[in-house]
Amino acid sequence: MKIDLITLFPEMCEAVLSESIIGRARKSGAIELKCRQLRDFAFDKHRRVDDTVYGGGMGMLLKCEPIALCYEALCAERGCKPYFVYMSPQAKPLTQEKLKELSRKENICVLAGHYEGVDQRIIDEFIDEEISIGDYVLTGGELPALVFIDALSRLVPGVLSNDECFTEESHYNGLLEYPQYTKPQSWRGLEVPPVLYSGDHKKVDRWRFEQSLRNTLKKRPDMLDNRELSDEEARLLKEFEC
Ligand code: SAM
Repeated sequence: MKIDLITLFPEMCEAVLSESIIGRARKSGAIELKCRQLRDFAFDKHRRVDDTVYGGGMGMLLKCEPIALCYEALCAERGCKPYFVYMSPQAKPLTQEKLKELSRKENICVLAGHYEGVDQRIIDEFIDEEISIGDYVLTGGELPALVFIDALSRLVPGVLSNDECFTEESHYNGLLEYPQYTKPQSWRGLEVPPVLYSGDHKKVDRWRFEQSLRNTLKKRPDMLDNRELSDEEARLLKEFEC
């Protein structure tokens, strides 16, 4: 997957996106990621990327032209029109389902807003989809863009060592993950459940499935509201609720 990030703070984003799993995925070529400095596309006398808001009010808004020029330049460089996402607190909060859907795209461009946001004409004419990381407002789109790019990248084949790394995790199949333990087996009198070192993989799978369901019921019962429950899940949930 090729990802472009349009931002006023490319160094800040590069610092995060060069580390750990995403950094290694960039080096291996599993993802290709470029942070673009929006200011490089401001060609007026003062190289301004923002201006005051029509109608009055506090704050500044990112102007249309630098964003349009930046996107058009990267389209020409990529030889295609990347799916253009704007990080915005006005969208529906991001879900694992949405990430799964977007991870099938070959090219994605992410716009991080700043100040009061961006001129509506950019959203109307250029943006394919607005993405929010939650119902709260941050000062800029960089942290949301980093959250989005991280969560998206790990679903791209080759980024994690094994697909199981994410298919077993919370939310992927509409449930939370089961509890996990590492060594030592006994720590301050607290024991790892014996089934996990029994060597019986069927029993381990069964235990994990039940714990996953139990965990979801306990922490996020809302996630079960719209789930099409299997007979087994319905039976277990009744049992847990008793
Ligand atoms: N005036 C905007 C509004 O009320 O909808 C909020 C602008 S916010 C202060 C500045 C930028 O931060 C936005 O353009 C957006 O890119 C980003 N941002 C803030 N909160 C966000 C969230 N929850 N999800 C995604 N992006 C967010």
